[in-house]
Parts: sequence; structure tokens; C-alpha cells
Amino acid sequence: MSHPVIAVLGGGIAGLFAARELLRNGYEVILIEARNRLGGRVYPINIEGIELQLGAAYLHDTGDSENPNMLISELKVENGLQSLGQAVQLDSPEITIISEDEETFGFALKQMFEGCNIDRLSPVDRDEMEGSYEGGEDNFFLYDGYSDLLKDLEAELTRNGKCHILKNTVITEVLHNVESNNHFLRTKDGMEIVCGGVICALPIGVLQGGFLKFTPPLPELLDRINSGNARRFVIQFEENFVDQQCSHIIMHDEETNTAFRILNVDYYRKAKNPDIKESNCLVVTYVPLHEKKENLTPDAVMKKIKNCLKERYEQHEGVIESGMIIAECDWGADDYCRGGWSSFNETIIDEDAFNEWFRKINKYCESCNIHFAGEYMSKGGNGTVHGAALSGKQAAFELEKSLKERDMPLDLKQEELFFSWSKHMLEAERGRRYLESNPNAKPGYAPGTVVLYKPSL
Ligand SMILES: Cc1cc2nc3c(=O)[nH]c(=O)nc-3n(C[C@H](O)[C@H](O)[C@H](O)COP(=O)(O)OP(=O)(O)OC[C@H]3O[C@@H](n4cnc5c(N)ncnc54)[C@H](O)[C@@H]3O)c2cc1C
Repeated sequence: MSHPVIAVLGGGIAGLFAARELLRNGYEVILIEARNRLGGRVYPINIEGIELQLGAAYLHDTGDSENPNMLISELKVENGLQSLGQAVQLDSPEITIISEDEETFGFALKQMFEGCNIDRLSPVDRDEMEGSYEGGEDNFFLYDGYSDLLKDLEAELTRNGKCHILKNTVITEVLHNVESNNHFLRTKDGMEIVCGGVICALPIGVLQGGFLKFTPPLPELLDRINSGNARRFVIQFEENFVDQQCSHIIMHDEETNTAFRILNVDYYRKAKNPDIKESNCLVVTYVPLHEKKENLTPDAVMKKIKNCLKERYEQHEGVIESGMIIAECDWGADDYCRGGWSSFNETIIDEDAFNEWFRKINKYCESCNIHFAGEYMSKGGNGTVHGAALSGKQAAFELEKSLKERDMPLDLKQEELFFSWSKHMLEAERGRRYLESNPNAKPGYAPGTVVLYKPSL
């Protein structure tokens, strides 16, 4: 049996897992990613030989029996992580906090964790949040973040030539043509791509922000998801001054009523190997308040962090003053993210409500073979890397199911596909001529090109 070519939009963890699943099941995949790198909100950077994270660094919910955390086995089996002993378990007593009282600490932590409007949080998420966010045995810090996982995924995808990864390619339009049952994708630089099914693994903030045009339009049900903001700063000092007993300094800033979490990376790195080279960087997460749309300038953030550190490390005032922001990511302002992480709003009151929501979303998906993946599509795992991974696998499964049920016209010839899109004949003609005169043309090179992938046989 032949399989149509499937486009996966977005090369974050959800998209990568979806693409891998499809490849393993015999599909040819075009993975389209706006940035020049894969990983999305998994974003490792290397500072003087030490890996730091501008995005995800922790493995959460490992003890969740309902939603087994398959990333554990991925990490163990496929990435040589022999056991979770190679990651550091987060135990609440080891977290050191600067905060006036328990109440403000609780607020800061919750706000930090959800990165969204707490008052509009789904009771399901609220339940899960209670008590579990001060670390705990189900959460692990990964020394090298998710880098190995990213490397392994990219290696597998590129191994047999069946996955075409287009980086620096921004999708602007997704159109399902009912007549031909094909999908036409448009990119910012004028490329057009034809395929037989789509997995949309773009962040919810991008979808809610209306940056892409969908035909048929996106379901309004996607509005039931809150997406907050999260900012990361890497601050480098002349030298390391933080005591090794301290893993985090959590600060509740009264002026903006927001939370800052300062991570001492060495606390975890040294737990693995006490002789390891010291880092002179601290990683700060700042979650601007959802309702107020509060957003500080980097200078203002730096000033607040320095004041907070001086309270605790008076004797190191000079070193603290040397601190400079050397890397920053404002995920809410980022064009290809538009949010930190998501949670369901108060309408998803329980599991039944989630299942009903999921069922209705699926109706849209089945009607046009555009299936959603992303951290926001996973109950219990939303807002996390493992949630994104699970959602990618699930979307691939759902797409395959609906393709089989539909009995897709799988063996269309390239030319037939090419001309079936009558409305866009002019562009198709231009593209055909371009392809004829440039037999080795690669997608993405010429604005206005119609790139056509015939189904693999
Ligand atoms: C600061 C921060 C810290 C976090 N810490 C943790 C943690 O410790 N543990 C944890 O489990 N989770 C954490 N998370 C959440 C976790 O990173 C995400 O849930 C997960 O990575 C999301 O994966 P995704 O594939 O759904 O989305 P993304 O990773 O956002 O992937 C979406 C992809 O789509 C691409 N894209 C967007 N628009 C377009 C377009 N128009 N055309 C083409 N491509 C496009 C993007 O560039 C991106 O690569 C954190 C998130 C943040 C922001």
C-alpha cells in the first residue's frame, strides 16, 4: 500500500515525535520549521563549555501512573541514560528560598509554574499543581537538558532520506482542498507545498494569535487554553559566589507582583560530579503577570535580581555588580512561540470535559486531515516536554487512522496532483516551468515556486 506524503508543521518536540512516528509507519514526511534549529522550547545553549537551557530542563511527573512518562524510557534506552540516577531528583528540602512568608512563596511558585492566569485555571490543572511544585521525587533535573533527545530524534529523522527537514521556513497558510483531498501549504517566502495530510505542531500562542490562515478555519475550541508568558535570562558574573547548598532562590517582587526563580545550575551539576568545572552563570526564569501584561526591560530585571542577590550575599556585592545578561529568551514575544507554556481554562472541569473537548477537536481534524500536536494537547502533560512528545505520537496515530478510514487516493501521479489545484493554476504553471528548467531545484530556493511531492509508492 502506498502512503501519502505528510507535512508536519513545527520542529519542536511534538513535531519531532509526530514525524518520527509517521516515518516508522512508512510515511514520507516534510517537516517545516521556522527557525534555523529544531527543538522549539527545548533550547540548549553552550556557555564556555557548559550547557544551559533557555527552555526546558526538567523531567516532570515521572511517577504519574495514569500517563506513563514514556520519555523516561526514551531517555534511558535510546539516549544511553542508564537510570534516572543520572538525573538529579528534586527534593523540596533542598530548595532554598528567599521570600517573606509562606503565602507569598506559594503564590510565586504557583505563578511560576503555571505561567498563566491562575484565577482562570482548570480545576484539573489546579489539583495537579497542589503540593507537587516544590520539587518532589517525581521531578528530575537533566544535566544536559534534552539535548541528547534532540540529537537522537534529528539523527533518526534524517537517516533514510524519507524525511525532508525544511528549516528557516515559516508557514503562513494551510489550505485543505476538499475536491482533491490534498493540502496546500504556503510559506512566507512564497513556496507552496502539496501534501496528503498535515500535523500542525505549532505552539498554541501562534495559533491563537491568528498568524496563520487556515482553511477550514481553526476550531474556536482552541480558545479554552490559556497561554502565559515566560522569560529566561542567563546572567554571567566575574566568578561563582552562590553557596553550594542553594539550588534556587525564589523571589516575589512586590512592585510588579511577579515571581523570579534564580537557578544555581552548579547545585545539580556538582551533585553529579563535584569536581566538574564551575559555572559563573545563573539562570533566571521570570513569569510576567498574565492579567497585567507586565513586562520589565532586561535592565529592570537585572536590577531586581542584583538587589535580591545582595540581600543574601552581602559580602559579594562587587561580584554581583559584575553580572551581565548574556542570553535571553522572551517566549511570549517570540514570533514562533507567543507564550511560555499552556494550561486549560476553567471550562475543562474534569477528565470528562477534557475528553469531550478532545473529541470535538478531533472532529475538525478528521474533517480535513489537519491534526494538532503540541504540549497543549495533552491532558496532565500539558505545559511539559513529555506532554508534547505524547501529543505528537497521538496526532500521528489519529492521522493514520483517519487516512485509513477515508481511503485516500493514494496513488495520484505527480502531474495529476499538480493540476488538480485549478484555482492556483497560474502559480502552478509558474512552478512547473521553474521545476522543468531547474530539475535539481530544492524546495525553498525560489519565491513563488510550487513544490510538489508526489505520494511515495
Ligand atoms: C522557559 C521555559 C521553561 C520550561 N521548562 C520546562 C521543563 O523544565 N520541563 C518540561 O517538561 N517543560 C518545560 N517547558 C515547557 C516545554 O518546553 C514545552 O511544553 C515543550 O517544549 C513544547 O513543545 P512543542 O513541540 O509543543 O512546542 P515548541 O517547542 O514551541 O515547538 C513548536 C515549533 O513550531 C515552530 N513554529 C512556530 N511557528 C511556525 C511557523 N509559522 N512555521 C513553521 N514553524 C513554526 C517553532 O519554531 C517551534 O520549533 C518550559 C518552557 C519554557 C518556555
